[in-house]
Amino acid sequence: MSRTLVLASNNAGKLKEFGEMLAPIGFTVRPQREFNVPEAEEPHPTFLENALAKARHAARLTGMPALADDSGVCVTALGGAPGVLSARFAGEPKSDQRNNEKLIADLTPHADRSAYYYCVLVFVRHADDPQPIIADGRWNGEIIAVARGQGGFGYDPYFWLPAQGKTVAELSADEKNRLSHRGQALRLLVEKLR
Ligand code: IMP
Repeated sequence: MSRTLVLASNNAGKLKEFGEMLAPIGFTVRPQREFNVPEAEEPHPTFLENALAKARHAARLTGMPALADDSGVCVTALGGAPGVLSARFAGEPKSDQRNNEKLIADLTPHADRSAYYYCVLVFVRHADDPQPIIADGRWNGEIIAVARGQGGFGYDPYFWLPAQGKTVAELSADEKNRLSHRGQALRLLVEKLR
């Protein structure tokens, strides 16, 4: 029997990716938009707290189990910034191009270019679930100054993978899913939910 869970996001790519991974273990994933759930606030300083807030919000408004994610890029020389502010690093309205320009400018004086993408997923059975299921993933790389590649989104053209000799924007979608912070977290979540 299939159980329905609400995804605390309306992102079509995430809906597809999460839906495909969770279907084999009996979950049908539906976006929160279908239940008229407005986007939750993300005021917290940690990825985990923001993901938990989004999952609880969706569960509370629908009365159903909910799954949320939060992710971003953390740069060592910038003390972990942009971090939870990754989507809006250069302010409103959010813009990948301005975010990348600011990242490269802020990093100019620094020799240490190391960075990682981070993703956390939180599943709650109901809004007050005392034991949310949590899975995370981390993907190490370096920030380069000149963009390479057309794939992906966000910081991908500047996120260099030494082992692959490519930026994330130069990977195929399958390769990215296999390696990425989100792919790692999703596979771990599936194991925990099983
Ligand atoms: P969200 O968790 O989907 O809201 O993502 C937060 C922000 O982190 C995005 O808007 C991007 O700026 C950045 N980000 C997260 N994951 C990735 C990725 O896989 N590639 C590039 N940027 C990412």
